[in-house]
Parts: sequence; C-alpha cells; structure tokens
Amino acid sequence: MDEQTLIRLLVDLHRDGARQGPGSADETRRALDLARLDRGARLRVADIGCGTGASTLVLADRLPRARITAVDRFPGFLEILAERAHAAGVARRIETRAESMESLSFAAGSLDLAWSEGAIYNIGFARGLEAWRPFLRPGGVLAVSEITWLRPGPPAEIRRHWEGEYPEIATAAEKVAILERAGFDLLGYFVLPPSSWIDNYYRPAEKRMPAFLERHAGRPEAVEIVEMERREAELYRRYQDWFSYGFYVARRR
Ligand code: SAH
Repeated sequence: MDEQTLIRLLVDLHRDGARQGPGSADETRRALDLARLDRGARLRVADIGCGTGASTLVLADRLPRARITAVDRFPGFLEILAERAHAAGVARRIETRAESMESLSFAAGSLDLAWSEGAIYNIGFARGLEAWRPFLRPGGVLAVSEITWLRPGPPAEIRRHWEGEYPEIATAAEKVAILERAGFDLLGYFVLPPSSWIDNYYRPAEKRMPAFLERHAGRPEAVEIVEMERREAELYRRYQDWFSYGFYVARRR
C-alpha cells in the first residue's frame, strides 16, 4: 500500500477517536504533577504529535494561564482539536500548527514544557530528545510516553514484533540512561495501565471499524489496516505484562 493511502485511511479511522494512542486524562494529570511546574504561571507549552488533542485539552484545563502550541503532521486531526478546544472554552490559549516533529519551528529556549504522548516514536526517542531539547529553556520540562519493556527477557513473538516495528524499545533503566546522556534529569516515571490501552484506545478503535469498513467498502487497503490494528491489539492483550508506554518526565539541564 502506498504511503498516502495508508495515511489517509489511518487518519479516517482515528480522527473520530477521543485519542489516537494509549493514555488517559488521569495519566496526563499524573505526569503533569511530576513536572512540578508553577501551574498558575504563564507557561509556554508545546504538545507534539497532539492528534485530536486528548492531552492538549487536559493541559489547557490544568494550566489555566498557559499558551499551548499543538503540533501534528495532519491538519485533519488539528481541525478536530480546534473544534474541541472551542467547545471547552480554551481555544484562545491553543494554537494549532501543522508541521513535522522533525523540523519544529519553535525558537531556542522558548518553551517551559514540551509534551508528547504516544508520538515520539515517530522520530525515535533519542533523536526526539536531541531535536526538541534546544526548544526548552534550561529548567524546562519534557514529558513523553514511550514504548518500554516492563521486564527483561520478553518472549520471542513479542520481541520479534517490536524489533520489526520499533527497535528502540528498551527497559526504563535504558531509557532513563538515554535521557541523562541527552542532558535531562529525571523527575519521575510511571507505567500506563492496561485501561489506557484497552478501554481508551483499542476498544473504541475496534468499535469504529465496522463503519470504517463500510465507508471504504471494496478497498482491500481498508481491510488490511483493520487486520493490522486488530493484530496489534491482540498482541497487546496477550503480552501486556511485558510492555507498555512508560511516561518519562525530565528536566532540561
Ligand atoms: N498524542 C495523541 C496522538 C498520538 S498518535 C494522543 O495521545 O492521542 C501519534 C500522533 O503523531 C498522530 O496524531 C500523528 O498524526 C502524529 N505524527 C506522526 N508522525 C508525525 C510527524 N513526523 N510530525 C508530527 N506529528 C506526527
């Protein structure tokens, strides 16, 4: 399947979801607490790979004077984010920006907080840290969720899956060492619970699949995507003791 078709179909499957990756409002708030920022300050915040804004809206609610730039590659997601921000009464403080996380246009040292849930894997953890660090002021905070092995020695099937999909998957100890080498000090770490994956991501996506297949009836690419996502959900259900998203909150040195 060509890249354009894949992207168009993936956006169509996921744009009506409350979120485009595993997570929850509670986990976003929990990570924000670990950031130990002055919540009443006029913070400058970026939500990178924001999708339709699940975390952006929580941040806007919890940081009442913050200005948030919500960045995603796909304008289709940002349009929905803008509508949701409007409905929540926070549109004035949220700017959307369609650009790639590989070439963000923030000024050096201009951010107090760089947020990214379920998205840094698109550029890679180590590369993302290096690329985004300059946008933070010294003392500014990075909060990212990243695929993490929960224990060493995963079974061959899931190890092979992740070696193919995202070879940067590693244990939290290894991820923290990468953060420290990249010029960050860890403020906190926790693991996203299964409900963030199943109740908030896979089950809602599975509910949207029949209508998605109907919209794209006769297109083998749509069937292919549904099969791919079902397989991914199945792997998670089977191997959830072995991997999850780790949430890493760290301060720029
Ligand atoms: N943070 C959201 C979305 C996670 S899904 C949530 O938790 O719900 C990953 C997001 O990264 C998608 O919205 C996708 O469009 C975006 N993305 C993928 N590659 C990107 C890139 N190169 N630059 C910017 N955004 C990208």
